Amino acid sequence: MPLYAYRCRDCGIDFDARMPIADRDEVSCPTCGHRASRMLAMISAIGSVGEPEPGCGPGMCAARQAAGMPCSMA
Ligand SMILES: [Zn+2]
Repeated sequence: MPLYAYRCRDCGIDFDARMPIADRDEVSCPTCGHRASRMLAMISAIGSVGEPEPGCGPGMCAARQAAGMPCSMA
């Protein structure tokens, strides 16, 4: 299941959650229980061994940086 990054708009915490794609926007904050916003980048996907890492490119760097990931082109 893919691991997504979320941020709660109410208490401001960041957290990760493994969610099915169909339910990835239905995540509640573990602290306050309010709806959390999914950040742009998917951090990792279990079961995708053999697929290349998404590289940096137009649009990708902003997404990676929004998720707090390093960008080789930054
Ligand atoms: Zn919260």
